[in-house]
Amino acid sequence: MIRRKPIITASTDLAVEKRPRPPKERCRPHKWLSEESMRSYAESDGAFELYISKTAEERIRNHALSKKDDVVEVMGFLLGSIYEDGGKTYALVRDVATTDLDATSVSVKFDREGFERLFESMDDSCFNYVIVGWYHSHPGHGCFLSQVDVDTQTKMFSGPYHSALVIDPVNVEIAVFRLKEGSVEERPFAIYWDEYQNPYYGETVMARKKRSEQ
Ligand SMILES: [Zn+2]
Repeated sequence: MIRRKPIITASTDLAVEKRPRPPKERCRPHKWLSEESMRSYAESDGAFELYISKTAEERIRNHALSKKDDVVEVMGFLLGSIYEDGGKTYALVRDVATTDLDATSVSVKFDREGFERLFESMDDSCFNYVIVGWYHSHPGHGCFLSQVDVDTQTKMFSGPYHSALVIDPVNVEIAVFRLKEGSVEERPFAIYWDEYQNPYYGETVMARKKRSEQ
């Protein structure tokens, strides 16, 4: 297999492909949602702006749980694609990229060096993706965006499809946030699985499509 450098697409040169959302029967709410978020999931029409593959979700959860006992924060990028369905865009998270960063229990260093190391760790991937957001953990202090988190979001993840996932492995909680007109809002999301689960699925399907068109 030819290893290609990942292509990190900026929002301005993003070509959004049309693709139906993962079907409802292959989606599930995250088990760590708060009661309120669980309710809004149940009341939703199933058309979310964010879908996270079971594979990516497991990686995030395991990453957070691995540092739970040390009460250390973990951080990484959410990688995937942006699609359009019914005139609305949504993001699919297929994988995550992370590396061990200089973290303490209350802050994750999100600096230049950290970014370079993250990009290096992504060179091992062989599909094209977009950074659709980031995740980090708040071991023991709940899910919210701190002022530093809001600053990070504003500086680095200001696109409408960008999400900030916060996970608390101690209190067993998860929530996704986004910025809307400068203020923080919770973003409902779904976990999806089966054939969409494989991070390389998109590439395989596109290659097949092209062959059959010829
Ligand atoms: Zn935080």
